[in-house]
Amino acid sequence: KAKETGRNNYKFFTKAMNEEISFKLSLENDLRKALVKEEFEVYYQPQLDLNTNRIVSVEALLRWHHPEKGFVSPADFIPLAEETGLIVPIGEWVLRESCKQTKKWRNQGHDISISVNLSNQQLISNHIVELVKEILIENQLDPQYLTLEITESLAITNLTDTLNKLKKLQEIGVTIALDDFGTGYSSLSYLSTLPINFVKIDKSFINDICDKTKREIVKSVSRIASSRGLTVVAEGVEEEEQIYIIQSLGIGMIQGYYLSKPVPSKEMEKKFLEKLSFV
Ligand code: C2E
Ligand code: MG
Ligand code: MG
Ligand code: MG
Repeated sequence: KAKETGRNNYKFFTKAMNEEISFKLSLENDLRKALVKEEFEVYYQPQLDLNTNRIVSVEALLRWHHPEKGFVSPADFIPLAEETGLIVPIGEWVLRESCKQTKKWRNQGHDISISVNLSNQQLISNHIVELVKEILIENQLDPQYLTLEITESLAITNLTDTLNKLKKLQEIGVTIALDDFGTGYSSLSYLSTLPINFVKIDKSFINDICDKTKREIVKSVSRIASSRGLTVVAEGVEEEEQIYIIQSLGIGMIQGYYLSKPVPSKEMEKKFLEKLSFV
């Protein structure tokens, strides 16, 4: 009897695995076609400068409108895009699209910068520096208005090559931000060794900012970052009370649902006009 159950469990387990694999394969197939079928859209989320109380920048966040499945979360398709290498052409599209949109906004008189997530594989690809230059020229966007967000995992693979590319991007005037700081293989030493300009403190820390230990960590990060001349951005700010603590820790910029969720470009325009602010 016990043996039978065991077998059934095993069968059930493989069936679930098969379903998961075939789901992934079909999603991968759909992802391959998503670019040409124009199923992607860039959403934008504002970043507020706490010193000037102004929206100085927006982060580009990719959205996939799947024809049958509906909205697919980046948490589900970005890892798949990275596994399959599809992130390289998809990421190029995001960069092009968001630089074009930013130029349009700037032409309309909005003094705004754009922040775009750059995947590990895009940075490893040989031509990333040339590609960034090309897209900036194509859109006549000054490099000072572009920030590229990299993650810590990215920082440790192919280190020498990565560092050289980041330095070249900085030399042409592009800003480099270290995203999700505090997660994964974070190390405080990154703040002094990596060629970065911004540090984005992960939302898990901001969530628990009322907790004394978390607050002390954020405080140290903020202090070290400031002494290196880095701008600190708090991610995932949802409550007004968090802002007062964040500000007291010397953090210069905030991003999060408190200001706005990521929204389509048209909605972002309305938010510029509302001149989103706090207190
Ligand atoms: P990320 O770059 O750290 O982006 C911030 C994520 O936090 C976004 O999730 C945003 O919607 C969410 N968020 C912002 N404010 C709040 C808040 O107050 N509370 C909470 N709970 N969440 C908040 P999203 O858009 O689902 O993107 C998830 C991740 O997918 C991004 O994390 C980024 O790593 C990746 N991603 C998104 N678009 C792209 C892209 O174009 N290229 C690459 N390589 N990765 C992307
Ligand atoms: Mg990001
Ligand atoms: Mg982040
Ligand atoms: Mg991330």
